[in-house]
Amino acid sequence: MERKEAEKLEYKKPCSVPKDTAELLKVEEFIKDYRHFIDNAKTERGAVNYAEGEAVAKGFRPYTLGEPLKTGDKICYVNREKSVMLAVIGKKPLSEGCRIIASHIDNPRLDLKPQPLYENSGIAYFKTHYYGGIKKYQWTAVPLELHGVVYRADGTRVDINIGADPQDPVFYISDLMPHIGKDQMSKSASEFISGEGLNIINGSLPFDEDGGVKLKVLSILNEKYGITERDLITSELTAVPAIMSREVGFDRSLIAAYGHDDRICAYPSLRAIIDGDIPEHTSVIMLADKEEIGSYGVTGLGSESYPDFIRALCESTGESYLACKKASICLSADVGGAYDPCYAEAYEASNSVYLNRGVAISKYTGSRGKGGCSDASAETLSKVTQIFDKAGVAWQVGEYGKVDQGGAGTVASEIAHYGIEVVDCGVPILSMHSVTELASKYDIYEMYKASVAFLNS
Ligand code: MN
Ligand code: MN
Repeated sequence: MERKEAEKLEYKKPCSVPKDTAELLKVEEFIKDYRHFIDNAKTERGAVNYAEGEAVAKGFRPYTLGEPLKTGDKICYVNREKSVMLAVIGKKPLSEGCRIIASHIDNPRLDLKPQPLYENSGIAYFKTHYYGGIKKYQWTAVPLELHGVVYRADGTRVDINIGADPQDPVFYISDLMPHIGKDQMSKSASEFISGEGLNIINGSLPFDEDGGVKLKVLSILNEKYGITERDLITSELTAVPAIMSREVGFDRSLIAAYGHDDRICAYPSLRAIIDGDIPEHTSVIMLADKEEIGSYGVTGLGSESYPDFIRALCESTGESYLACKKASICLSADVGGAYDPCYAEAYEASNSVYLNRGVAISKYTGSRGKGGCSDASAETLSKVTQIFDKAGVAWQVGEYGKVDQGGAGTVASEIAHYGIEVVDCGVPILSMHSVTELASKYDIYEMYKASVAFLNS
């Protein structure tokens, strides 16, 4: 064998940056839409609203479990305002399986405690309880938005969305100045800002000459929203960074944004299903809540509400649910941790994924000895990589980092638990779970191409 021939036997990672100008324009168009989504849907409720709105505008109709369905029907099913499932009934019967893409729309953030409001030394604060895996020190000295709902004692509801509009005020967690930070700086990074230290400043004016900054905040909340301190108990309020997405680099190749994980996979799958025609196999996308805390709860992918939806689709078309599950295949669409040369010691370079190299397939996640993961079979990987190759989708494979360095979980284990074949595939990102995460425009667009190819397979 000639050397040139032998070199062809080697596997090389592809490149996701298109050479063709028309394709580059398509990427820019898609990224504009994606940025509009992430800048306007910073919580799971926001993402559900946005997705439902887009779907209805493209002809999807709300679906009641059990209502009859036929080929070509496009439906949308919202689960308690925090997760949403969309389906397009395909040409083949559901007993031949569906193509499912599952991703999550919750992000790490700071939730307010049930009794959050207090004052100390002339400043009014909210107590918080962080949600998901964060580096707590990143959340100080960053402007914050406040999102959520409050139910008044009489059951009426107020929606809260403060800080995204440049005219709005924002909220803030202070940090200690370095000048007197000797003791703080000698603590480990996991300790120098504590969970109880993440208190959000929300006011500083006294009610009157007798003081009362908390009272002043309560009076403003009452005037503006008609709520009392009691109503905060029946609320769900959450603080997220008041930072909009930005292009990064002289070449503008990257996007920095809060909560790419995992809206960066959710949006491409949403677009793939709403832009598409009638597929061969029924297409389903699941935008799930609570992944960041283990997929628990009635809106997390561990809930039966997800397989119930598939079962309902089968009943609505008179097909066997068991046969459907057995023949279905799912992409657990979640971000991959891209290789970061500045922290090379945490990665194993040859089994890492890289920016601008396409979507990241993970055969397994988990930690230590693959603990807690769904290990996709060679058969599943073969099916999915063939779909991607046929459609010209740039893909790469990799693990999160070094074997003993830690690890992660995704919704793949929940999907597998239902008896549905699944593999992880998503956009590689840097600074995962930071207040702003970084991803390549071209990999985001590749995720869209991957979603389209998968739903049409
Ligand atoms: Mn994720
Ligand atoms: Mn995550």
